[in-house]
Amino acid sequence: MKTVIHWFRRDLRVRDNVALTEACRKAAQVIPVFIFEDAFHSGPDVGAARLAFLLQSVEALRKNLAVLGYSLVVRRGKSEVLLPQLCKECAAQAVFANKRYEPYAQHRDERIHASLLSAGFGFELFKDAVAWEESEILNQQGKPYTVFTPYSKAWKMRPIPAPKPALPPFHGPFPRLESHAMPADTESVGHSLRQSLPPSGERAASELLRRFMDGPVYQYGKRRDFPALAGTSGFSPHLRAGTLGVRTILCALAKARMQADAEGRAGCDVFLNELIWREFYLQVLYHFPHVTKGAFRPQYDLLKWSSNRDHFDAWCNGVTGYPIVDAAMRCLNATGTMHNRLRMITAMFLTKDLMLNWQWGERYFMKQLVDGDMAANNGGWQWSAGTGTDAAPYFRIFNPSSQSEKFDPKGDFIREWIPELSSAPMEMIHAPWETPVLLAKFKYPQPIVAHDIQREKCLEMFKAVK
Ligand SMILES: Cc1cc2nc3c(=O)[nH]c(=O)nc-3n(C[C@H](O)[C@H](O)[C@H](O)COP(=O)(O)OP(=O)(O)OC[C@H]3O[C@@H](n4cnc5c(N)ncnc54)[C@H](O)[C@@H]3O)c2cc1C
Repeated sequence: MKTVIHWFRRDLRVRDNVALTEACRKAAQVIPVFIFEDAFHSGPDVGAARLAFLLQSVEALRKNLAVLGYSLVVRRGKSEVLLPQLCKECAAQAVFANKRYEPYAQHRDERIHASLLSAGFGFELFKDAVAWEESEILNQQGKPYTVFTPYSKAWKMRPIPAPKPALPPFHGPFPRLESHAMPADTESVGHSLRQSLPPSGERAASELLRRFMDGPVYQYGKRRDFPALAGTSGFSPHLRAGTLGVRTILCALAKARMQADAEGRAGCDVFLNELIWREFYLQVLYHFPHVTKGAFRPQYDLLKWSSNRDHFDAWCNGVTGYPIVDAAMRCLNATGTMHNRLRMITAMFLTKDLMLNWQWGERYFMKQLVDGDMAANNGGWQWSAGTGTDAAPYFRIFNPSSQSEKFDPKGDFIREWIPELSSAPMEMIHAPWETPVLLAKFKYPQPIVAHDIQREKCLEMFKAVK
């Protein structure tokens, strides 16, 4: 082919990018395009922090492309209208892009395919976001796995795919195509975080990868559950925006594992499992799209959840009277990020202590998170609520203060995010209501519910639909 458009979506990088590599292989000229869609402001997947991170990532991509001799064409509007127009403008024969797995994105791709085809242009999609996609790992009956452990065993039987080469420099004259401005700044997309976003762009992601694989990965198994320690990779916003390729991570991980002692290898193995969880939930979303509308197990759609809006507001604003829950929610609201252990604690608290529908929490997280991802978020919420595929059984209910004692033993995380308790003594930090005399001295709320009572009520609610 003479000219192909590479349409950048959740793959904002010039290295280890499958569709981009294929475009270079099959066409003499590749035109890089990014479309700022109206749906970025109002779709099912919208969040201000994510949008701000995306804008910064696109800007970084534009600069990386310019260094290589390419000019990123940005357009604003509807992809299905703009792509055929762009093909005509630059005389391209086809549009290449990397595959998306969310039901709404797949429907959109089907529409785009039809509109390009009817205008006489091709549309090719490639597997890029995952090592192994939905139809590649099936059980012996050829059906999708719905339990993580056998899925991960099957996943690990396969070879690690190699990263793709970087985009080669382009030396010829680049066609002059009109490019629209992106929304000028993060304010215009409603970004109101009090703290800055994680560093964005491909270079920042590579640096994060290098640093993590140089040391922290070996300790990952031991440190990953403690929010006050920087024990996890921080890759999730980059995996979501596509500023880091999954093959690149897997290859770096395999190298790190080869150099590790037994303890370090254990850390690498735990980390690999987490990357597999990501692919597990993506294939669940693909095969069981009903999870976006309700419980994976439909009987749990009959649960009689509470509708107490005051409780929901207290949870959102971090004023439930449970310090670990409140610290986590305040951190989320201020930074757009939340540690995995805290996501589980806050999600369990919403569903099991407040007995509120997990979908309320799912939506709120999606609105706030910089790494908000439909598959992982839905999977995490359904796991915590006990309604999902490989769900924690409904009777496994976290006790927030025991979780706090175990995973924030000195209360460092709580003190960082709850200024009212920054000087509180150790004996009250995890369960301040147990020392009312002390609690009276601090401007911190009483608990809005009693865990022991709610636990019993919640078990009754679940038993009613069993
Ligand atoms: C209620 C709830 C909601 C969640 N929502 C999201 C979300 O919207 N987006 C998101 O990326 N993750 C989500 N997770 C999973 C997990 O919390 C984050 O991936 C993790 O905290 C990101 O930090 P990290 O990159 O430092 O992770 P690390 O611990 O370093 O893990 C490395 C990578 O593995 C993947 N991963 C790790 N844990 C999980 C998991 N449980 N499920 C799926 N993938 C995982 C992520 O891509 C992550 O970047 C959610 C978990 C729960 C319990």
